[in-house]
Amino acid sequence: MKIVRTRADNSLLAALPAVTRRRLTAGRAPVELLVHEVLSQAGERIRHVYFPIDGFISLITPVKGRGQLEIGLVGREGMLGVPLLLGVNVSPLRAMVQGGGHAWRVDAATLQEELRSNASFRASLNRYLYVFLAQLMQTATCTRFHRIEARLARWLLMTRDRAHADQFHVTHEFLALMLGVRRVGVTRAATALQRRKLIRYRRGDISVVDVRGLERAACACYAIDRKIYARILGARGGQQGATNSAAPSLAAENP
Ligand SMILES: [Zn+2]
Repeated sequence: MKIVRTRADNSLLAALPAVTRRRLTAGRAPVELLVHEVLSQAGERIRHVYFPIDGFISLITPVKGRGQLEIGLVGREGMLGVPLLLGVNVSPLRAMVQGGGHAWRVDAATLQEELRSNASFRASLNRYLYVFLAQLMQTATCTRFHRIEARLARWLLMTRDRAHADQFHVTHEFLALMLGVRRVGVTRAATALQRRKLIRYRRGDISVVDVRGLERAACACYAIDRKIYARILGARGGQQGATNSAAPSLAAENP
């Protein structure tokens, strides 16, 4: 997915005291996230944690004989590598870059040392862990009960929030994979959203043209997710600009 991006920092790192932040990122430059790059495989040891700056990562469970299913997204609001917060250094999921960009990469040992010695750092990342788990639970419900058109609208809004852009590139095939449905189902849902003038879709280039309308078309999961982000991570609504006052900033509180 190509995205039109704006450069800002990762919200979790930006909220840390400067001294903590320096211990994690000193002497390092952000690494590039390449589209479709696989950052971790299920069952593999976690060597690095990623804090996206302007790219975002899809969390995928491989399903035997049926391809794969996306169960979560990590963007500037979060981090890849939450098992380390629980003292486990093995990834349960496949993580693949879906929106190219940059991320801070911190090696697992450095993060674990900081978690051991810094209680407020641990508390602040644990709040993110809670939000992350809530998102997974919501997605499980969503996949089981909600219509494809509403799920597609939710996915597009989540992607938009993490890409910080109204336009991105994604194929029907990829959307089908991500939503765990057949291509024809995605085509039908995308056509319906386009007919309602909520999005424009042309050869994989998606433009969100009516955010409010798309929010109304999305299942309740999107609003529930955002409420949890706001309550736990202290998101400040309205800072994304007049076109989307409801977009979450997903910023962590200062510990
Ligand atoms: Zn849903």
